[in-house]
Amino acid sequence: MDKKELICIVCPKGCHLEITKDKEGFHVTGNGCKRGPVYAKKELTNPTRVLTTTVKIKNAVHDRLPVVTDGEIPKGSLMKAMNVLNRLEVEAPVRSSQVVLKNILGSGIDILASKSMNKR
Ligand code: SF4
Repeated sequence: MDKKELICIVCPKGCHLEITKDKEGFHVTGNGCKRGPVYAKKELTNPTRVLTTTVKIKNAVHDRLPVVTDGEIPKGSLMKAMNVLNRLEVEAPVRSSQVVLKNILGSGIDILASKSMNKR
């Protein structure tokens, strides 16, 4: 692997990481703390993300409900997950942190409401 560059997204500082790999493993420089190398290794081997978006909601004061995954899903599955969530419609009332979809794409990760929404 040539030298890779990444911006660490673990905290707002956004350190510019430089990563090289040899037979002993990954070598990371530019990190402001020890979470940077952990993030870099994961990003280069199994990148994952928390997904935040909105879904349709019926009989509510708004048309869309903010939702979030209860953990990280593989970055390569984000578009598939969005396709599932674009077809999902939930019904008011909904409580904050209520599960609105279980086990998306068989990932073991649930989709939670990010806020409560009353019936219209
Ligand atoms: S390396 Fe540490 S200090 Fe730098 S952005 Fe990542 S978490 Fe923040």
